[in-house]
Amino acid sequence: DIPRIATPARTHAIMERFGFHTKKHLGQNFLTNLDVLSGIVRAAAIDDHSDVIEIGPGIGSLTQYLAEAAHQVLALEIDAALLPVLADTMAPYPNVTVVNQDVLAANLQELINTHFDGQHDVKVVANLPYYITTPILMHLMRTTVDFSSITVMMQGEVADRLTAQPGSKDYSSLSIAIQNQMTVRVAMTVNRHSFVPAPNVDSAIIVLQRRPQPLAMVNDPAGFDRLVRGSFASRRKTLWNNLQQLYGKAPDVKAAMTAALADSGIEPGVRAERLTITDFALLFNNLQKHHV
Ligand code: SAM
Repeated sequence: DIPRIATPARTHAIMERFGFHTKKHLGQNFLTNLDVLSGIVRAAAIDDHSDVIEIGPGIGSLTQYLAEAAHQVLALEIDAALLPVLADTMAPYPNVTVVNQDVLAANLQELINTHFDGQHDVKVVANLPYYITTPILMHLMRTTVDFSSITVMMQGEVADRLTAQPGSKDYSSLSIAIQNQMTVRVAMTVNRHSFVPAPNVDSAIIVLQRRPQPLAMVNDPAGFDRLVRGSFASRRKTLWNNLQQLYGKAPDVKAAMTAALADSGIEPGVRAERLTITDFALLFNNLQKHHV
């Protein structure tokens, strides 16, 4: 049996052997809890039908579990100092390929075409570097790649925003951007002491899957995004005030906005946090109809 990389003792021994020190600015918090590692593989439902893209393998703690369960693993690591470590820890796993790559600069479709055979489900699994959680999620959402799921560890507060429902304090334009396109579920919450070094906050493992259709049926997704962000721009202000800030205060604009709100059955005095994605879509389509 191949020993686990992620026991606290082995993690420290590996780092010491390679003279490696974790870098805070790259979000390097390595998992040292074996139950959490099995939990991630289970949440992602990784088996021999899966090809996995891992973002940020670190010293290979999670990669080892993925390699043992999946068909192929492609791991993108930005820190070149980890390459010799991974060459060593991943030596027993011929189905793992490590690429020295910034995930945000990566053409994921091209990497998939190069490294995978097209006969397996493609899944993303990661213990994310927390300083770029949202940019990575947006990058994954924007690609045309048809991931069968995205299973990612992130800081608890971001997980709360991703899963927030209308009326909650965490409900924001990020909740809407993600939930519009994806189903989101919390698989597990994870104590900060499951990592070395321990981050300042607890974490959660989230599973995202693309919906067959976005919830908001709109013909201008960028314009829709602008409406949603603008509506949340000043959280304590009313929708009406935020809309004026966004579209202007000219009399004809105000008249058109009033008509669009009335057609949508939305009170101008409401706050954006009360509106569902479907409400926003209806409002957006009515604003278009009234030429706002
Ligand atoms: N997977 C390992 C684990 O669970 O122990 C390490 C996770 S650690 C939270 C995040 C990893 O992402 C680090 O190895 C870090 O170097 C890497 N990373 C940071 N920014 C990255 C980027 N833009 N692209 C790819 N990897 C990145």
